[in-house]
Amino acid sequence: MTHKPCLLYSQLPAIDRLLREPQIAPFVEQYGQTLVTATLRGMQEQARIYIKQYQALPDWCDNWALALGLQLEQKQVLALKPVFNLSGTVIHTNLGRALMAESAIEAVTQVMRSPVTLEYSLNNAGRGHRDHALADLLCELTGAEDACIVNNNAAAVLLLLATVADGKQVVVSRGELVEIGGAFRIPDVMVQAGCQLVEVGTTNRTHLKDYRQAINEETALLMKVHTSNYNIEGFTVEVSGRELATLGMASQIPTAIDLGSGSMINMAQYGLPAEPMPQDYLNQGIDLVTFSGDKLLGGPQAGIILGKKRWIEAIQRHPLKRALRADKMTLAALEATLRLYQRPEQLCQQLPTLRLLTRSQQQMHDMAQRLLPQLQAHYGDQFIVRDEPCYSQIGSGSLPVDRLPSWALTFAAVDSQGSSLERLARCWRGLAKPVIGRISGGCLWLDLRCLEDEKALLQALLL
Ligand SMILES: *Cc1c(COP(=O)(O)O)cnc(C)c1O
Repeated sequence: MTHKPCLLYSQLPAIDRLLREPQIAPFVEQYGQTLVTATLRGMQEQARIYIKQYQALPDWCDNWALALGLQLEQKQVLALKPVFNLSGTVIHTNLGRALMAESAIEAVTQVMRSPVTLEYSLNNAGRGHRDHALADLLCELTGAEDACIVNNNAAAVLLLLATVADGKQVVVSRGELVEIGGAFRIPDVMVQAGCQLVEVGTTNRTHLKDYRQAINEETALLMKVHTSNYNIEGFTVEVSGRELATLGMASQIPTAIDLGSGSMINMAQYGLPAEPMPQDYLNQGIDLVTFSGDKLLGGPQAGIILGKKRWIEAIQRHPLKRALRADKMTLAALEATLRLYQRPEQLCQQLPTLRLLTRSQQQMHDMAQRLLPQLQAHYGDQFIVRDEPCYSQIGSGSLPVDRLPSWALTFAAVDSQGSSLERLARCWRGLAKPVIGRISGGCLWLDLRCLEDEKALLQALLL
């Protein structure tokens, strides 16, 4: 039976009447008058739209209190939800990259609760320099002369270019014109920084003479960019940091390298693919290097610029620094993370990123054996649940070809329907703590490399 819309509209209860209802009053107590009133207004609007479209009242109008409770609960769910990262990518940009060490978490909590000596020197009770303490630590760890910390590595590259090469030319190899994903492309960053990009060499081969021939009075910087997320193989030549540094010194032009992930320790000692280290390039005479805080370093989102004092001082004075500077929480987390590097023997245990990257395949295999029976019992009707070897990726611009042997639980639909897998994946994404896997080859894969709390995962998946 359909009603005349105007009659339906008049059946919607007034807000002040609803607010006085005994089932609704407790919500006011719990959530506050403002939020409850705004939510009720929204619900009335939703009801009006429904009436206009269907000439009927929506079902939930039978019980405003119940509907209100649900909507208020939904509004409380935080947008940044913790998840289980079983995607197989350890440093996953979309999942927030590195997990912090416990000491970093404590350090952040402390500076959130209390005033801190962020830009305050206790020695002369005056204004200190925001990056000071961290710069000392970074210099100790890497042998750099000075350091500057900004919001992320993209900001580090932008600030470096704007300071060293504003309005001038920057020479980069055609093989290193990287796009990181999102909007970070080296040629675009050059434009934003007010520099003119001078491409030299070819995609696969760039020689020192290519850089040398490009140099003129307008040249302000010779730059290399680590090809983090791709690999040029075959008939190739690239110019080493040492060669570029030598050319830079001979022609009195500064040199810089954007390392992207740059690790401060030798990854090969852990059986991981070698990543370029900032200290190596500084030793070779490169003037400035930049890298991320939340990739292999395992700290908070930050961009780190290391290098020669005169350049870092100029970078610190650039007006953009103010816009790009890191906040106290970032600096606290970064300091605590860097302190772990002073005791490299324990790094593997204390730094979550490194802990996860260095787990043995056997560990994930054993976990899979423990989890399998219960998941088979629970999902066996609709899915074939198995454990299988797989490869994890480091992620965040470490080479996609460098893969780490791991172990996974796989779910294949008994009815072989892709839609069943999609439904399962969606269902897991809808959990209070979502479980993020990866669909590939007709299976939903849960790579166990990043699983540290087996009980919690079982609790989530056996609901
Ligand atoms: C990741 C990366 C960046 C961007 O770093 P963010 O910290 O994400 O801003 C820049 N350059 C290279 C080579 C990278 O790998």
